[in-house]
Amino acid sequence: MTNGFLIDMDGVIYRGSELIPGADRFVNQLLEQDIPFLFLTNNSQRTCRDVAKKLDRMGIPVDERHIFTCAMATARFLADQKPNGTAYVIGEGGLLQALHLNGYAVVDHDPDYVVVGEGRAFNFEMLETAVRLINNGAKLVATNLDPNCPTPIGSRPGCGATVALLEAATGRKAFSVGKPSPIMMRSARKELGLSAGETTMIGDTMETDILGGVQMGYRTILVLSGTTSRSDLVDFAYRPDQVVDSVADLCDAVQARSLSVV
Ligand SMILES: [Mg+2]
Repeated sequence: MTNGFLIDMDGVIYRGSELIPGADRFVNQLLEQDIPFLFLTNNSQRTCRDVAKKLDRMGIPVDERHIFTCAMATARFLADQKPNGTAYVIGEGGLLQALHLNGYAVVDHDPDYVVVGEGRAFNFEMLETAVRLINNGAKLVATNLDPNCPTPIGSRPGCGATVALLEAATGRKAFSVGKPSPIMMRSARKELGLSAGETTMIGDTMETDILGGVQMGYRTILVLSGTTSRSDLVDFAYRPDQVVDSVADLCDAVQARSLSVV
């Protein structure tokens, strides 16, 4: 019997700005039945409030407490490692806010860390600054290493691509906190107050959602409504516990509270 869910969003709940049919019914069932869940995203661009508002407008009435971003995971991790530290940031509002909320100052001189997240607003000058700061001893931290992000007109470079540029330029390897890192996967599970055996991860990406869940001993469900098709599964040494076309297929099981039945 599953007791709670960690749920990826892009490719699971929506694609871009389009709701995946039945996703609203699935989440509303979880809310009605008081089943604990968190939306888990490797997008560090938006704040939790922004994400909750986007979902609410799609007919999914959740609030900030239901959102867990890699920006939050990264900021909490850094605050734990080095309380009240400093960071030079290549990223946007979600990451900046998470760092501030966790006691970090954002600086452009002699930082403890260079933190890289999703963003479209940075320029080459900022990358040059980051390279210089890393060469001078700042540690390179990535909110995630997703190489690209899907958009309605094709994929765009993700945080992992920016990080790869900085790694190549400095010869230093980044430390990444987002999915599939156990740091984010464990921290989200603890937020729900569940044990590993009580936790199910639902996602559309094998390399992040499913791998992250498998590594932590969570139950895993792959949905085929996003980036992965059934024929891709042969390429991986690990597999999800269950494969469904979309979360709409999980509604009956949630209704019957019997998600352990494959
Ligand atoms: Mg996804």
